[in-house]
Amino acid sequence: MPQQIWKHTCTDGSIRYSFYPRDCDCGQPDEYAGYHYNSMERKAWYQKLYGLAPEGPHRRLADDLFSKITETCPECAGEGILNDPMWIGFLVCSRCGGAGKLWKVTEAERQAVRTRILAQFPLAAADDQIADPMLGVIIQDRKTGAVQVITDFDDLG
Ligand SMILES: [Zn+2]
Ligand SMILES: [Zn+2]
Repeated sequence: MPQQIWKHTCTDGSIRYSFYPRDCDCGQPDEYAGYHYNSMERKAWYQKLYGLAPEGPHRRLADDLFSKITETCPECAGEGILNDPMWIGFLVCSRCGGAGKLWKVTEAERQAVRTRILAQFPLAAADDQIADPMLGVIIQDRKTGAVQVITDFDDLG
């Protein structure tokens, strides 16, 4: 599940984030920064969008190529979720469906980019048909870097 984040801007200008508000010697209060995906959710969305493992040596090339054919969702500023102003909670962005990105090209064009990346990094291939990361438990294979979203909780043993 997305996590609530607090932001602290210290008197020396440094910024830190934490999962709960903390006291600082400087006396400046922390600022509530809303809900954000946790790191596993970000990884799962990466894989779901691109059909590539979220970690590995292909990332540099993949990020470079995909950045040219996607745009940051303007509705949620790439966060995938929106903080609900009416209560302390979040909403999945309806514009991007939670991905945080929008494609600027056709399905065929994005598959061509994926194929080009896989020609150079065949081990980067990963399942893009995983379940919505919000609906399950995300586990990562340490060897391949690929993630799975477990929605059938019997599978967790
Ligand atoms: Zn401080
Ligand atoms: Zn969005």
